[in-house]
Amino acid sequence: MDLMYKSTRSAEIRVTASEAILKGLADDGGLFVPEEIPKLDKDLSEFAKLTYQETAYEVMKLFLTDFTEEELKSCISRAYDSKFDTEDIVSIRKADDAYFLELFHGATIAFKDMALSILPHLLTTAAKKNRVTNKIMILTATSGDTGKAALAGFADVEGTGIIVFYPKNGVSPIQEKQMVTQKGKNTYVIGIEGNFDDAQSGVKAMFNNKELAERMDKAGYQFSSANSINIGRLVPQIVYYVYAYSRLLKDFEISRGESINVTVPTGNFGNILAAYYAKCMGVPIKKLVCASNDNKVLYDFFRTGTYDKNREFVLTTSPSMDILISSNLERMIYKLTGDDPEATAKFMKSLAEDGNYTITEEMQKGLADFTGGYADEQKVAETIKRIYELDGYIVDTHTAVAASVSHAYQTASGDQVKMLIASTASPFKFTRSVMNAISSKYDNMSDFELVDELSELSGVRVPQAVEEIRNAEVLHNRVCPADKMQEAVEEILGL
Ligand SMILES: *Cc1c(COP(=O)(O)O)cnc(C)c1O
Repeated sequence: MDLMYKSTRSAEIRVTASEAILKGLADDGGLFVPEEIPKLDKDLSEFAKLTYQETAYEVMKLFLTDFTEEELKSCISRAYDSKFDTEDIVSIRKADDAYFLELFHGATIAFKDMALSILPHLLTTAAKKNRVTNKIMILTATSGDTGKAALAGFADVEGTGIIVFYPKNGVSPIQEKQMVTQKGKNTYVIGIEGNFDDAQSGVKAMFNNKELAERMDKAGYQFSSANSINIGRLVPQIVYYVYAYSRLLKDFEISRGESINVTVPTGNFGNILAAYYAKCMGVPIKKLVCASNDNKVLYDFFRTGTYDKNREFVLTTSPSMDILISSNLERMIYKLTGDDPEATAKFMKSLAEDGNYTITEEMQKGLADFTGGYADEQKVAETIKRIYELDGYIVDTHTAVAASVSHAYQTASGDQVKMLIASTASPFKFTRSVMNAISSKYDNMSDFELVDELSELSGVRVPQAVEEIRNAEVLHNRVCPADKMQEAVEEILGL
């Protein structure tokens, strides 16, 4: 029997995994959740014998039950291949008395690659299964990392096209260069004269435009989303927690059945939710430490039970976590209500209308496995420097948020359980902030001079993703006003 997915906001909607992946978001605005979180059907010591790809199959087959074995294995082998610069796909580095799970060995050197390299294959397979013949156009607004990872994932994938909007003056120079040099005849990158919110609103408006959808359908297109609320992104993220635990077992770092703690640098709550799902599946995880930067809306939520986005939006050196609405938290809220769509819808309505909601005391008890922490900019810089001086290991700004929070948690609680820290980006992606944290002598160097200095200092070869943009040709130079995004899309699609 297939595992079905329902919406967090109404009991009526019930779809298969492939339908949920195709749709992204439920028609009622809710998120798709599995009716039940499946349990691992093998002992974790069995997993220790498996490769990353084999682990991916064993985990994903439990969630995506309407995919055949052949379909799923084909998606996995096309996603996790030599695009990754390590055969193991992820790696674990011991430093600062913790295990850093490096999730940045993919094409764009951020953890988004873990899911976005497989999503295009899941999506095209799902389209075939559901007899969709339209070309699927991915429409994405990005503040930097998601855009490039989605472009890399969808480039030249048959039956798809991708249009990315980014704020022309709102991304880092390396991030912009990564996007505008993207190859692939089905890729389009457009800078908008506006900020990320403008880009996001423009994209949402197009998704909700029924008239546009009809014209697209006639021309043989339909939109889909590569956003992190898609279960096609969530499920592949569970895999690396199962894999990491089984690697620690295999390497005799932990013994059978031993619990670990996990710290995750959090923005949209997708990555940490995946860790929580792994725990529910049977991975012995004790505490889930949710690490925030100065946008500490989640820290306050875990402390008080009130989620309140009415606050100043702070720009930090960990921009991928600069977020005040953590979309994936809705799935957790749904779980805490005891799978009650009406109650969840009420909380989300309150969030939309008043910018806040407060969960019940009973629901708060369900959060006992979580603890929140945050690191301000000074802590982030200190942590990068401290770990470098201690172990010669250089972490990026997002990972430093997690390392700082993890350290503070261990000191305050005395919790001796071994800690796994999700390392979400390569330091080469945030070179300037990282190098400035280590020494002020780097202040006046150019971005690519800093890249070479970082390589020298860390003893890590410059990643291919950075090397290839040094002299790459700019292939995208479209710019449009924020209120002309739809016109740009229509022009691209010839509507
Ligand atoms: C997206 C991102 C995060 C936040 O992950 P969520 O799943 O949104 O919580 C953290 N670090 C980096 C580098 C990212 O790109």
